[in-house]
Amino acid sequence: GLSNRPMAPTMKDSGVPERAGLPDDASPPLLSVVVPMYNEESMIEAFFAELCPCLQRIGPDWEIICINDGSRDRTLELLLRQSEADGRIKVLDLSRNFGKEAALSAGLEWSTGRAVVPMDVDLQDPPQLLGAMLEKWREGYEVVYARRVARRSDSPGKRVRARTFYRLYNRLSKVVIPPDVGDFRLMDRVVVDVIAALPERNRFMKGLFAWAGFRSTAVDYERAPRRRGVSKWNYWTLWNFALEGITSFSTVPLRIWTYAGGLVAMVTALYALLMVTRTLLLGVDVPGYASLIVAVLFLGSVQLVSLGILGEYIGRIYLEVKRRPVYVVRQHHGFATRPRPRPTA
Ligand code: UDP
Ligand code: MG
Repeated sequence: GLSNRPMAPTMKDSGVPERAGLPDDASPPLLSVVVPMYNEESMIEAFFAELCPCLQRIGPDWEIICINDGSRDRTLELLLRQSEADGRIKVLDLSRNFGKEAALSAGLEWSTGRAVVPMDVDLQDPPQLLGAMLEKWREGYEVVYARRVARRSDSPGKRVRARTFYRLYNRLSKVVIPPDVGDFRLMDRVVVDVIAALPERNRFMKGLFAWAGFRSTAVDYERAPRRRGVSKWNYWTLWNFALEGITSFSTVPLRIWTYAGGLVAMVTALYALLMVTRTLLLGVDVPGYASLIVAVLFLGSVQLVSLGILGEYIGRIYLEVKRRPVYVVRQHHGFATRPRPRPTA
């Protein structure tokens, strides 16, 4: 990805990287819409047909950053056609499927707008809301969430699971994520820069967005069902997403074992006392197989669970220390300026 950037960044005295070889005078657009796409050929035309008029109503000063997240269908071809027709549509082609969180990170980094809005391509995030979001931003809010008032498009099962996850997450994590809020939100440039500069590889975006803080408000909308194509999420990917979220933002699962161990030790001490007294008073008696096997199996499984939780964290530490980039760009189309290089602290 780094290789196809035009030139290595040069440092001025100030230590601020210059955008060498690229026009400096290109003033940033008012709004960047960032759209990750994975196998979405059936949605692309409908998406632009709905989004562009909404942007036109806002003004001429916008860009759409499309990230092709290693699609295997005609997504890239269709995107390039859109980009040729309108120079404000820019395409970032990733070298393989890196996942939505990585694609979104790429898009945020390559965006230049003074306000930035990540959006799904399936029109579950209504572009009609952009006007209202910009209005709130102009009032001085740095983050404007789009909040779902009804999840009618989700099955009751999914709603219950989502609610349980948010409750658990907000219990465990110090940074509270507002429930019923997705990635669809407007962020001021300051907020985007903060998030793009975060060095971590495990990118649970909702958590990172919440971590950044800033003055926030919400606009409400009703979430529509996916217009066409299929959702890329299943039970297993959602479960892993939930694990990612919790392990990225809480160490409670690591720390509870001290207390669990302490509790079990206390109960064991009481039981031992009982056994000693009984043996002294009533003499030795051999039966006890049932209580023995229960204790062994119980402690064995508690130990396995706690080892597994250690594994979840150690695995993530391993991924972080390898310092691989979050995404790799094969090619970019339509960008006038390169992104600011990421601080490599
Ligand atoms: N997406 C992506 N990479 C992936 C999976 C999904 O870029 O590996 C994109 C997808 O094309 C869509 C957005 O992420 O624009 C949301 O995906 P989806 O609609 O499948 O998720 P859901 O709305 O069901 O949570
Ligand atoms: Mg969707």
